[in-house]
Amino acid sequence: MQSGLIDSLKGIVGAEHVLTSQEDLLCYSYDATPGFSHMPEAVVMPGTADEVAKVLAAANEAKIPVYPRGSGTNLSAGTVPLKGGIVLLMTRMNKIVEIDTANLIAVAEPGVVVGDLNKAVEEFGLIYPPDPGTVATATLGGTVSENAGGLRGLKYGVSKHYVMGLEVVLADGRILNTGGKTVKDVAGYDLTKLFTGSEGTLGVITKITVKLMPAPEARRSMLATFAKLDDAGQAIAAIIAAKIIPATLEIMDNATVRTVEDYAKVGLPTDVEAVLLIEVDGIAEVVEKDSAKVVEVLKANNAAEIRVAQDAAERDKIWAARRAALPALAKLRPTTFVEDATVPRSKVPDMIRAVNEIAARHAVTIGTFGHAGDGNLHPTIVCDIRDDAEMDRVYKAMDEIFAVSLQLGGTLSGEHGIGVGKLRYMESQFGPAGMAAMRAIKKALDPNCILNPGKLVGECL
Ligand SMILES: Cc1cc2nc3c(=O)[nH]c(=O)nc-3n(C[C@H](O)[C@H](O)[C@H](O)COP(=O)(O)OP(=O)(O)OC[C@H]3O[C@@H](n4cnc5c(N)ncnc54)[C@H](O)[C@@H]3O)c2cc1C
Repeated sequence: MQSGLIDSLKGIVGAEHVLTSQEDLLCYSYDATPGFSHMPEAVVMPGTADEVAKVLAAANEAKIPVYPRGSGTNLSAGTVPLKGGIVLLMTRMNKIVEIDTANLIAVAEPGVVVGDLNKAVEEFGLIYPPDPGTVATATLGGTVSENAGGLRGLKYGVSKHYVMGLEVVLADGRILNTGGKTVKDVAGYDLTKLFTGSEGTLGVITKITVKLMPAPEARRSMLATFAKLDDAGQAIAAIIAAKIIPATLEIMDNATVRTVEDYAKVGLPTDVEAVLLIEVDGIAEVVEKDSAKVVEVLKANNAAEIRVAQDAAERDKIWAARRAALPALAKLRPTTFVEDATVPRSKVPDMIRAVNEIAARHAVTIGTFGHAGDGNLHPTIVCDIRDDAEMDRVYKAMDEIFAVSLQLGGTLSGEHGIGVGKLRYMESQFGPAGMAAMRAIKKALDPNCILNPGKLVGECL
């Protein structure tokens, strides 16, 4: 990058908001995804949409790549500056602009941490439902750009179900606004949905209008163990068939249960094939009725043991088991890949069985847990990235896991996005025509291919 451009960037955002030392650049050369890193040439921290516009206009003119970044917690190498250039760090833009209780809407800048938004709306009896495991660190801009979900996805959906409007800076520095505060708005192409989940490849989001929901009046958590995986699978389908949509319906397979028990000693039997963790929420009377019905369904589907939380402490104990799943697996080996192959919920047992068979055949360690109610599983591969022979087997196992999820009618990603890690499978899901359509959109909005180049749709041809 020319030093003249660095000087221009300093002129736009202030010299203290442009980092160029090797130590600083190293910190922004990677994110939460194992296996990918590359040094940027500068880290630029804009404070306003106008500054973002000027930075992009300058980078576009010089054809320098720009990688938007929130907290860097994504699991698809979405913020890794693979071609050098500029990391555009959005965390200075962290104001909650408005909480509009008449319209149940919040307007916020992209650097607001999702947990902070939730704390701010809580005092009005409201929630912003998308709740990734990283809710205490991930930014609103990052979660909207990844279309992030979380534990409550079954009932509440993912980020795209809450984004009502966006302010976006295009690659050439023009600013556009999409959507707004009206629930009904069918004018034109749905640009709000297009930019949501676009992983920083189409524009830089500088303001976000989101829908809020009334906080549930009551919640009830349950845990059930199953000797047979198929019974757990039947129970998942039967709960939904009983017309109960739990806020959360999670599964842990045997490998995960054993690891969690070894790590956290939460009193789980280690010989079961699956554990389900369930939470229903809503109006107190409905929660009472629904939780009784869920217990009936669990019994009818051969649950070996059922625990129903009677108070907050018991609820915390149940969820401590689920929260321990990732740290417990991650502790086993130096490297952890959390995948998010997703299938229709009726196919969850088939998917878990297939993952176990793939793990055994390639001699790799995989624990599977995840959001069973919405079919969004996290086969978690633990390995050592320094061991080439093992990594060869790991990457073969990954290829097969994603092939099976597509064969079962699923998708490459339920919530983590594509980035670079899953790029090689995209054509299998979308076909040549689908890929051509997505690349045409990229080219129309970012003709010089400066925004997160090489991600989501691959190289600009
Ligand atoms: C332990 C762990 C648990 C996790 N659990 C979940 C989970 O339950 N559910 C889930 O969905 N995800 C989960 N994630 C993944 C991750 O937290 C999410 O992808 C989150 O949305 C990333 O937010 P971020 O602020 O860190 O974004 P970043 O990682 O900084 O960026 C994510 C993407 O958005 C782009 N981007 C960032 N800001 C902007 C902007 N303003 N404009 C345009 N593009 C932008 C980036 O270029 C990148 O492509 C987990 C990750 C970890 C490490």
